[in-house]
Amino acid sequence: MHRSGRAGWLRAAVLGSDDAVVSTASLMIGVAASSAPRMAILVAGVAGLVAGAMSMAVGEYVSVSSQRDAEQADIGLEKRELAAEPQAELQELAMIYVKRGLDHELAMKVAEQLSARDRLGAHMRDELGIDQASLSRPLQAAWISAASFAAFAVVPIVALLVAPPALRIPVIAAFSLVSLAALGAYGGHLGGAPLVRAALRVTLGGALAMTITAAIGRILGVSVG
Ligand SMILES: [Zn+2]
Repeated sequence: MHRSGRAGWLRAAVLGSDDAVVSTASLMIGVAASSAPRMAILVAGVAGLVAGAMSMAVGEYVSVSSQRDAEQADIGLEKRELAAEPQAELQELAMIYVKRGLDHELAMKVAEQLSARDRLGAHMRDELGIDQASLSRPLQAAWISAASFAAFAVVPIVALLVAPPALRIPVIAAFSLVSLAALGAYGGHLGGAPLVRAALRVTLGGALAMTITAAIGRILGVSVG
């Protein structure tokens, strides 16, 4: 069985989770590097979680909504064509099956039988490539990405809560990099990519982001504080 339908939103969720770990951990490490107190680092982490989850939700909602609008426009046009020129549409559907390798007679039979059962469904699937079961759902996309962001933004926050004061930055970084490696490997697994390479890529990217924000936090902490 193909898993691409499910893998679509699952991969989006994994990407959102990577994003959550990298941005929240970098934010907290940046604040920690300015020698801010624990409470300030915690507030930065929680604010980063909430802000990130909201912006993921809005971003997903907007992008999936425009995808859905395009699908609905296609479906609307198809409905009008089916009503106006049913015979031409039947021919068109049959030609699609001819292109896929059926002979004319069989293609016509297939087109007729599929049309008898669910004419619009057959045109959507075979002409427009829209599967009724996987129509874009903006609200679902919005809450899945917000929830996955929030779930993984918790990782660096938990790290702060358990870290001894002298080791806050390394503990936040370690927790975050381990979860990034796991997410990267899982994302690679979903996409059929080599696991180690996928894990390494996201881990190195995360480490770079944390190093840069730590340096900026330190500079600001020294010059402003
Ligand atoms: Zn059509």
